[in-house]
Parts: sequence; C-alpha cells; structure tokens
Amino acid sequence: MATATTNGSKVIKPDHQADRKHMIFTQEHEDLRESMQAWVQKELWPNRNEWEETTWPNEVLTRAGELGFLGLCFPEEYGGQGGDYYYSLVRAECMSYTGSGGLNMGFVVHTDMVLPPIEMLGTEDLKQRYLPSAIRGEKIGCLGITEPDVGSDVANIRTTAIRDGDEFVVNGSKMFITNGARADFIVLVVKTDPEKTHDGISLLVVDLRDETGETVPGFTVSRKLEKMGMHSSDTAELSFEDVRVPVENLLGEEGKGFYHIAWELQSERMVACAGAVAGAQRMFDRTLEYAKERKAFGRSIGNFQVIRHKFAEMATKIEAARQFTYATAWRYANGEYPVREISEAKLYTSRIACEVADECIQIHGGYGYMKEYEIERAYRDVRLNRIGAGTDEIMLEVIGRSFGI
Ligand SMILES: Cc1cc2nc3c(=O)[nH]c(=O)nc-3n(C[C@H](O)[C@H](O)[C@H](O)COP(=O)(O)OP(=O)(O)OC[C@H]3O[C@@H](n4cnc5c(N)ncnc54)[C@H](O)[C@@H]3O)c2cc1C
Repeated sequence: MATATTNGSKVIKPDHQADRKHMIFTQEHEDLRESMQAWVQKELWPNRNEWEETTWPNEVLTRAGELGFLGLCFPEEYGGQGGDYYYSLVRAECMSYTGSGGLNMGFVVHTDMVLPPIEMLGTEDLKQRYLPSAIRGEKIGCLGITEPDVGSDVANIRTTAIRDGDEFVVNGSKMFITNGARADFIVLVVKTDPEKTHDGISLLVVDLRDETGETVPGFTVSRKLEKMGMHSSDTAELSFEDVRVPVENLLGEEGKGFYHIAWELQSERMVACAGAVAGAQRMFDRTLEYAKERKAFGRSIGNFQVIRHKFAEMATKIEAARQFTYATAWRYANGEYPVREISEAKLYTSRIACEVADECIQIHGGYGYMKEYEIERAYRDVRLNRIGAGTDEIMLEVIGRSFGI
C-alpha cells in the first residue's frame, strides 16, 4: 500500500508491485527461497532442454545435498536442518522454476514422498541406514504404490511380501515409478497378508542396488516408459521375483501400511499443491511479458480487453489456490489432519494449473505451440497433476465421502 499526502488529506493507493509475503513464512523461509532460486537459475534452468533428452543427472541431487536443500525438514542427527514443514513448500515452489517438470517431480519424490515416511515410521536402525546418505543426495529413493493392474484402488495391490524366517520374500511388479530406473532403494507398498485388503498391507524399505550399483538379485527394471510430458524424469516398471528383504526393513506396523501410505499422501499432496500454484504463477508471468510485447492490430495483445480479462481470471484463480494451499498447510503443520481440505486443495490447484496452462498457450497463439517458448512443455508437464498422487476423481470421492455420503 502506498500512501501520499494531497492537500492535507491522506490518499491511499495500491502498490501492485509490492512484495507479498505470506504470514506462514518467516524471514528464514524467504532467505531459503532466495538462495534456492539463485541455484535454480544458475545451475538448473540452463540445462532444462538438454535434460528433456537425457533425463536429469544424479549429480543434481548430490549438489542439492551439498547445499543443504534435501534435509530442510529432517532432524539434525540425520544430517538435516530441523526446519518446519513450510520449508518443503518453499522448496517445491522454487523447483517449479527449473523449467523442467520432470526434474521437479524426481526431486520431490525423493524429498517429500520417500524420506518422510522413513523419518516418521522407521526404527532408529532404518533411519540411520537410509536418511543420512539420502539427505546428502548420495542415495536416491523411489516410492512404489502403483501396479500394472491397480492404481487408485490401493487396497487391492497384488505385490506380496511373505515372511520366511528373518526375511520377507517379495514378488510382484510396480508401474509408473518415478526415479525407478535409477533409485538405490524403494519404499514399497506390499501385501504381507494377501487374504486381506486394507489390513493386509505393509510398507518395506527395499534396497534395489548394492554398493557397486548392481541391481540386487530378483529385482529388474523391466521397462523404461515413454511419456507425454515430464521427459526429464525417468518412469519405470519394476519387477520383483523372490527378492529377499530383512524383517528389520519393515516400515511402521505390519498390516497398517494402507493407513501409513494414506498419511504419506497427505503431505505429498500439499507439496504438489504448492508446486502447482508456483508453476501456474510462472506460466502467468511469462505469458504476461509476452502479452505486453506481442503486437496485433497496432497494439499489445494484452491491451485487448478479452486478453486482459483472461489474465484477471487466471490471477484470481492462482491467488485463491495459493491462499487455500497456505491455509491448509498451516493446519497440517499445526498438527491437524485435514484430509478433506487437502483433497480439495489438490483437486483445485491441479485443475487451475491445467486451466492456466491452456489459457497461456492460447494467449501465445502459434508460438505457444512451439517448443522454444517453453509454455508447451509446461502444458504437457502440468497435466500429470490431475492424475498423480490421487486423481481428480479420487479426490472428489474422498471429499464427498467425508460428508458421510
Ligand atoms: C508420470 C507418472 C509418474 C508416476 N509416479 C509414480 C510413483 O513414483 N509411484 C507410484 O506408486 N505411482 C506413480 N504414478 C502412478 C499414479 O499415482 C497413478 O497413475 C494414479 O494413482 C492413478 O492410477 P491408475 O493410473 O492406475 O489409474 P486407475 O486407478 O486405473 O484409474 C483410471 C481412471 O478411473 C478413475 N477411477 C478409478 N477409481 C475410481 C473411483 N472409485 N471413482 C471414480 N473414478 C475412478 C480414475 O480417476 C481415472 O480417471 C505415476 C504416474 C505417472 C503418469
């Protein structure tokens, strides 16, 4: 807000360029944002096109580990910084500026989907064995829920882990696994009691590679999958044939894996919301620049009322999505388990990010369809938000059922 004095009266005018700091973030969060954004701009953004062809190199994670970006919210005894949950949101927002949805996804799987359940549910031994090297970025994790025949219907997964002495013997396959082709270990959702549905599910931490990088006996990356977007990320189908896993690698309680993974998904969805909103803001900003520069019929296209109103609509949706995300994150960080609101936020932010991508392509005209303008990649990448981490339809089911119907 800018204030000025005219003829003795106080005139208050809006300052649309003023920084808008949200109440959930402290100066420390903003400091992280500044240093992480500088890293993203200098070391990640310039490589985005190359990594679309090659997928992102593992060194990105090691470098992030060196800079302290992987352990932001983990306790110091495992190499983390012991920060609060909001650091995860800041990180996800910064990663949306890499220009590479695939890198962002691979990164977030490691930091926000794989490591939190180990920290929350793991024994001291598991934490010591997996967290420090993963926080240094030396070991990469992936998460295995989805299977070739089962995605949304998690209670009916078919991968089994049957107890044999001091080991579980794992058989089955997992589908669409981000980081699957490169990961050193996996948080694997398995049936320890195949006769049961929800109460037969458990989580295991499974080594996929030995110290030399060779895959462990019985584990294979059966296929690397070609995708519509997220090209810089590797997505794989994984096969487990009599893979032997020590019982000490059980994560959380046996038979309670369904509820454990449902908990993990809440935090993952919040981070996805923050990433979706930041991604939408990035697309908006780039397109606004374009609309100011591009001329048609003797004026900037942004000066046509119909285009101006598109920006107004997008800005309103982005702001509503941002406020909803932060308010829900605040509740989550303060000990509530607001599953309904997280599901609503995941549904809303995913939808508006896709709508914004579509409008931004439209405003770019033919150039929007060209690779060099970046927006087509964002359009392809962002479409995953309505499918991954729980589809729109599943979010609607969770929200609807929360009303007892
Ligand atoms: C690029 C990419 C990366 C991924 N990364 C991972 C990963 O790292 N780890 C992992 O475990 N998974 C991963 N996934 C999988 C993702 O989480 C699933 O694709 C998603 O959960 C949906 O499961 P599905 O594809 O089997 O679809 P299905 O469950 O078969 O659903 C198909 C359609 O039916 C609808 N549907 C299903 N059930 C209902 C219902 N009850 N009511 C109404 N509609 C319903 C769905 O909404 C959807 O529209 C990834 C997927 C992709 C595409």
